[in-house]
Amino acid sequence: MSNGRSTRHSSYDVVIVGGAMLGSSVAWFLADNPDFDGRILVVERDPTYALCSTAHTNSCMRQQFSNEINIRISQFAAEYVKNFRDHMGGDMRIPRVVMQNFGYMYLAGSVEAAENLRASQRLQASLGAGTRFMSPGEIAAAYPFYRLDDIIGGNHNLVDEGYFDGNTLFDWWRRRAREAGVEFLKGEVVAMTLVPGGSRVASLRLASGEEVQCGWLVNASGPRAARVARMAGIELPVEPRKRYTFVFAAEKPLAGELPLTVDPSGVHVRSDGACYMAGCPPVDDRAVDYDDFVEDHTLWQEKAWPAIAWRIPAFEAVKLVNSWVGHYAYNVLDQNAIVGPHDEVENFLFVNGFSGHGLQQSPAMGRGIAEWISYGGYRSLDLAPLGFGRVRAGRPLPEQAVI
Ligand SMILES: Cc1cc2nc3c(=O)[nH]c(=O)nc-3n(C[C@H](O)[C@H](O)[C@H](O)COP(=O)(O)OP(=O)(O)OC[C@H]3O[C@@H](n4cnc5c(N)ncnc54)[C@H](O)[C@@H]3O)c2cc1C
Repeated sequence: MSNGRSTRHSSYDVVIVGGAMLGSSVAWFLADNPDFDGRILVVERDPTYALCSTAHTNSCMRQQFSNEINIRISQFAAEYVKNFRDHMGGDMRIPRVVMQNFGYMYLAGSVEAAENLRASQRLQASLGAGTRFMSPGEIAAAYPFYRLDDIIGGNHNLVDEGYFDGNTLFDWWRRRAREAGVEFLKGEVVAMTLVPGGSRVASLRLASGEEVQCGWLVNASGPRAARVARMAGIELPVEPRKRYTFVFAAEKPLAGELPLTVDPSGVHVRSDGACYMAGCPPVDDRAVDYDDFVEDHTLWQEKAWPAIAWRIPAFEAVKLVNSWVGHYAYNVLDQNAIVGPHDEVENFLFVNGFSGHGLQQSPAMGRGIAEWISYGGYRSLDLAPLGFGRVRAGRPLPEQAVI
């Protein structure tokens, strides 16, 4: 830049820390809002996005949550994804995004788990979701390949549940945000300065040493959310936790599509084109270093595959063809998003702690944060239940359906 800076300006109305799925969603929804005409800067430490959560996602969506707010967020996600081009102003460069509705199948292995599923089904149905509680007999009739001796029932829904190409949203949000004037900078935010009294972030410092003043600061830093919050003196209960993905081919593929099956063992598995995709947490599920992506090769052999082969005996003979490990931004309080303003540092906004369901929640989060910044409150969907208040009060909003 001719001004000797790496940014075009020294001051921005909004600075977004992290430019992956959530940061790009916020940037785009803000840039697209006719009532907002401020300057937006997105600071991203790694524009290759190689190690962020977004790069490791399984990119699925579901309506099956146990909280009303999460169900409403998913309803918007489904509508948004299916009509993505229209939401982007009918831009004919943008491909149609198709939902692959193989559905989710939550299996209950205990009476208590079945009761929880029934309660979730009632809530989901009352909000218009197509979830059905199925007995083992009904499951066997629809999907004869499962072993169900130890299963009491399952929740199943084939509407707006399955895979969608989240990458298309991510790419086009970035591209259109840039075209609308949003500045994306390669850089790392390393420190923040608060105004005297601490009620606002005044400026942030980049690793290059530059200072940037901000009107609003949006923390979209994924698994690094607690580190970024700490720069403003805020403690956030979010930590990086490893989640494994395994792609395998079956010697005898199933006759039809395999719903994303959530097994009582904690392993999940679904169709993935001609192959299958499975995932699970490690046996010892704890915070890891931000840069620790080392795989545990025993996990497939000793945990994931035995659980899958037990549930679906046709998968006794499979071949692992790919695997990776990514990080959840794991909210240790209640595995739900933390969204909206901090109660004391009032221009500090969170979009954090998605604990494995952030891709599908990204449209509602971008829209919500853009509304907060533009109007001082939410307009289309009240995200207050996911606010920082519950963190401050230590009052979790538990979500049964975390995978
Ligand atoms: C294995 C796996 C499977 C998943 N499956 C699903 C799924 O099926 N459906 C679903 O909805 N969700 C899923 N998720 C979760 C989903 O991928 C995430 O919730 C989502 O991608 C989070 O996006 P993000 O932008 O918040 O975080 P990230 O993608 O991690 O991006 C954060 C960005 O911030 C940048 N950053 C951090 N600190 C700084 C700093 N100080 N300065 C500048 N930049 C910084 C990072 O470089 C990074 O690019 C999955 C996650 C994993 C790991």
